Amino acid sequence: MVVVMSPGATEEEVAHVVERVESVGGEAFVSKGVVRTIIGLVGDVDSFHHLNLRTLPGVADVHRISDPYKLVSRQHHTERSTVWVGPDTHQVPIGPETFTLIAGPCAVESVEQTMEAARMAASAGATLLRGGAFKPRTSPYAFQGLGVRGLEILAAAGRATGLPVVTEIVDARDVDVVAEHADMLQVGTRNMANFGLLQAVGGAGKPVLLKRGMTATIEEWLMAAEYIAQRGNLDVVLCERGIRSFDSTTRNTLDISAVPIVQSTSHLPVIVDPSHAAGRKDLVVPLSRAAIAVGADGVIVDVHPDPENALCDGPQALLGNDLRELASAVRRLPPQVGRQDAATAVRTT
Ligand code: PEP
Ligand code: MN
Repeated sequence: MVVVMSPGATEEEVAHVVERVESVGGEAFVSKGVVRTIIGLVGDVDSFHHLNLRTLPGVADVHRISDPYKLVSRQHHTERSTVWVGPDTHQVPIGPETFTLIAGPCAVESVEQTMEAARMAASAGATLLRGGAFKPRTSPYAFQGLGVRGLEILAAAGRATGLPVVTEIVDARDVDVVAEHADMLQVGTRNMANFGLLQAVGGAGKPVLLKRGMTATIEEWLMAAEYIAQRGNLDVVLCERGIRSFDSTTRNTLDISAVPIVQSTSHLPVIVDPSHAAGRKDLVVPLSRAAIAVGADGVIVDVHPDPENALCDGPQALLGNDLRELASAVRRLPPQVGRQDAATAVRTT
């Protein structure tokens, strides 16, 4: 941390800052310039925070040098991490060596629809199946998901196609039942800053897919991941799913720059959700290509056997030629940026 004194700060004010820092076991290195004095602090940053240094007389500013998200930062964990998803007998990697396709219906609607979507996902080369059983809908009148029955249907479709499953959790009280049926727990954009939920999934013993809040800064997103990590769970995958902007041409604006930015500051894997970013099926393949090119560790996309009659997010769901085109991009492009298909890196015992 660095404390910048105001131009007119007195010797006593500087000495007072040094004394306060030393009182919590820190060291203070004073550097006097022609106009200003700056003080470099070494020690426990959290104890410095409690000093409220900005309130001391003569202090103009206080700058933090180290990342506030310690566990998910690359500052002390320089290698990028791989998160393994699935039972011990069949684990799928999400990380820097591979490119992972996650696909499935936005919502689990019925046994038939979910089974068909799971088959579509598997045939497109997906290694993980997605599907929402608890849907966080904007309208309370919209389809809210099948709940526990939906979890059972999704788990069964996953077993039938050999794909581990990821599903969203919207209420901390559901942690046990969701963790019982799913291989990975998803925290959606609307709950990114639900700190009680983050702590609950941090203690669930399953990997977590943490979507970026639609109005969250990158630092807020990483601090949300830190809540999960702080509960002892470092198996967190971050998902850029578009942020709110002034332009309503697309549902959200995919912040593609977030991918390399987050990868340079955090060791956690980062994937992209082009379906929820664009909200339009015609943009899912181009944005997936962009995700691969920018270095994302995977994509998560919506597929549906009958988008016209989908109960949730039909306009962004792929099928037919669009899905074949996605499958082709995901097969051909990752090797060109030095990545292996996650399907060939699955760990089985
Ligand atoms: C979803 O993936 O089903 C979903 C609701 O996504 P998001 O939280 O990004 O809107
Ligand atoms: Mn959706």
